[in-house]
Amino acid sequence: MKQLASLAGVLFLAGCQSACMRSQAESPPAGLLEGIASGRTRVVALSHALNSKTPHWPGEGNRPFKYEYFTSLERGHVLEGHFNMDEHTGTHFDAPNHFVAGQLSVDKIPAARMFVPVIVIDVRSKTAGNADYLLTAADVDNREKAHGRVPSNAMVMMYTGWETRWNDFARYKNADRKGVLHFPGFSPEATKFLVAQRNIAGLGIDALSIDYGKSEDFPSHLISHGSGKLNLENVANLGDLPPV
Ligand SMILES: [Zn+2]
Repeated sequence: MKQLASLAGVLFLAGCQSACMRSQAESPPAGLLEGIASGRTRVVALSHALNSKTPHWPGEGNRPFKYEYFTSLERGHVLEGHFNMDEHTGTHFDAPNHFVAGQLSVDKIPAARMFVPVIVIDVRSKTAGNADYLLTAADVDNREKAHGRVPSNAMVMMYTGWETRWNDFARYKNADRKGVLHFPGFSPEATKFLVAQRNIAGLGIDALSIDYGKSEDFPSHLISHGSGKLNLENVANLGDLPPV
């Protein structure tokens, strides 16, 4: 049986803004989930909606998202359709078995691992003039000086600004004449540091891959998945999240 290597659907819960800085290395603010119903907790959807123009990985065998209605309220008294998509289309997480044999597939990952603290590293000033920008260990260091140590088991989001290109597949994948893609990603050094020294939950990015577009050997995937970490790709609305 084919084992799923990705899953769509990502949410973020924010209970506070500046007060969270103090407690970031401790436990999450009390009552975060209870606060959803009362409106005290702000909920940010981090997933893009899908349609036939949604960017997909432009590799051999990959296909665009396709949706078809097979009945309608007029014809069959119900509205229903079916869809066809690649596992890695749209906002999704990469399970560790995506790159590394013997690591967990989506169906084997405990649901509790889906609830983690999130931090955002804003590198838009670096990516604006450099589509091939790699987030460095120095970027992590600077962020820690400004906002405190990256907490254990955090999902580390790289905010590149690429999400503003989401509705234009050509600009989002940004291929040159030779077909080489150009979008930012995590450097292997930063990934190594975050995995080994900060024991993160995984890496996230608002672009097609956590490794930059030019990559041919996907070192950040291999490092993170080799350590059993989950990664999020094509994340939406990172600008709506507090930095911690
Ligand atoms: Zn993926």
